[in-house]
Formats: sequence, C-alpha cells, structure tokens
Amino acid sequence: MVFTGTNKLNRNYAGVAEINSGVIALNTSWMNRYNQQKRRAVIIHELGHTFGTKDLYNYPNGALRSLFKQQTIMGGNYATSIKSFDAKLAKWTLRKTRSMSQTEFRHYRSNAGLYYQQMLNGQL
Ligand SMILES: [Zn+2]
Repeated sequence: MVFTGTNKLNRNYAGVAEINSGVIALNTSWMNRYNQQKRRAVIIHELGHTFGTKDLYNYPNGALRSLFKQQTIMGGNYATSIKSFDAKLAKWTLRKTRSMSQTEFRHYRSNAGLYYQQMLNGQL
C-alpha cells in the first residue's frame, strides 16, 4: 500500500484509492485545508475503498443516499470511528471479491492510466 500526496487529482476529490493497485492519493490542497480529524476521516474513507467498498454519497436511491451521507464513512460523513454498517459493508464486499489471475494482474499493472503507473513515473 502506498500513500501519496498530490496536487494532480481531479479537484473535486479529497483523495482517491485504486483498489487493486494499493495506491491512495490524497489531494494536497484539500488536506492542507482540513484539520487533523478530517484528514484522518479521508484516509479511513480511502482505506474503505481498498477493501472494495464503493462511495455511497452518490447512491441512486435518494432517501438511502441521504441516510448514507449522514451515517456512513463511505457516504462521506467524515467519521473516524468505524461503525457496524461500514464494517459489515467492507466484509460483505470482501466476500464478493475474487483474486485476479497472474495474467490479469500483469495486464492490469501495465496499464499506463493506473495511479500506480502514474506514481512510478512521477506523474502523481
Ligand atoms: Zn470515495
């Protein structure tokens, strides 16, 4: 797992995590604006993505989306303690995850668009 700070991310994101590459990139300008509690919350949210969990702040159902935004880390509530729902979501997602074959993995890792490749090439 690699954590990196960068000013080259889409400006709408505080951070991004690339699930299979293990790269978490934090948006430097957001991190500089945030206090320690919010920075921790962003890192925990991005770690959630490394377990395969998806963002819930854009969930299609409006009522659930609003609930997720207020009450879940993956909904972007900036919590730093992992509650039951987020833990169950991560466990559920991990059960749905399969391993890549070596061929898929090599193909994936050679993709120049990956944050992993951008980081290796000093572009992130
Ligand atoms: Zn996210």
